[in-house]
Amino acid sequence: METIKNVKFRIKRWIPEDGRFRVDTFEVPVFKGMTVLEGLIYIKENLDPSLSFRRSCRMATCGICGIVINGKPMLACSTQILHLQSDTITLEPLKNLPLVKDLVVDHTPFFEKQKTIKPYIIRKNDLDEYWNPTREYKQTPREVEEYLQFSYCLTCALCYAACPTSGTNKDYLGPQALMNAYRFIADNRDEGLLLRLEIVDSPDGCWGCHLAGSCSDVCPKGVDPALAIQILRKMVVEKDLGYLEERKGAQLVPPLPYVEGVEKVEAPKFTVRGAKKKAEEIQTKYLS
Ligand code: SF4
Ligand code: SF4
Repeated sequence: METIKNVKFRIKRWIPEDGRFRVDTFEVPVFKGMTVLEGLIYIKENLDPSLSFRRSCRMATCGICGIVINGKPMLACSTQILHLQSDTITLEPLKNLPLVKDLVVDHTPFFEKQKTIKPYIIRKNDLDEYWNPTREYKQTPREVEEYLQFSYCLTCALCYAACPTSGTNKDYLGPQALMNAYRFIADNRDEGLLLRLEIVDSPDGCWGCHLAGSCSDVCPKGVDPALAIQILRKMVVEKDLGYLEERKGAQLVPPLPYVEGVEKVEAPKFTVRGAKKKAEEIQTKYLS
């Protein structure tokens, strides 16, 4: 690939042994279309094998390569160096998360908060069908639209790193978890409306949001967590005024008629060892 120019990578690295940051600068030959992630891989392969950063899919799908690029949380794999229009780019680890090494942070608090809103469809009946599906729930294209935008979340934590409230209140659920609560509320298969509104109705939930909108600004998938949080607030008020009731989730489509000669397709089986046991534990804990 033809080198267009050299760009300086100023990397703010967390040094765990010293408990402080150190800034290292590397010169990277850049070709047209080269991404920040490819720049980091170049440095690791050619200049400093000790440099630590996370990456996996390289196509803005897994969401693990999020870092702060020139002051803004972005995905390294989908940010082209030349698009930054600068001869020097500054890279830092994501904020609001515990530091591990160099550009690597620990996403545990982010996923713990996501867990609290119960990020799965809740059903009160037809539990056999829930765990061993044989049919589909009725859902029209319009009903899919209700939550589709919010289901695009990559769990990249860019919104969490950009959120000033998450930066100042460690108990704040954060934009992704709150958005995800709304994602399931908006899904007509779900029957956890009142339970989820109870979880988010607190100063550390939807009422903690300052509506700065940074979360929506940095989201690489256009999910718009700030919008979801405002809808949650409206729903909490409606619930308190007695306008909202638990709804009955979408019903199952009727069984397909038996047609001779057509092979019956079995429902998928659990493929990961221990997954069935884990699913049963969740059922006992949250759904029974
Ligand atoms: S809108 Fe709310 S959740 Fe989003 S960044 Fe601002 S304070 Fe955080
Ligand atoms: S809402 Fe957007 S920024 Fe936040 S975790 Fe999901 S994809 Fe990332």
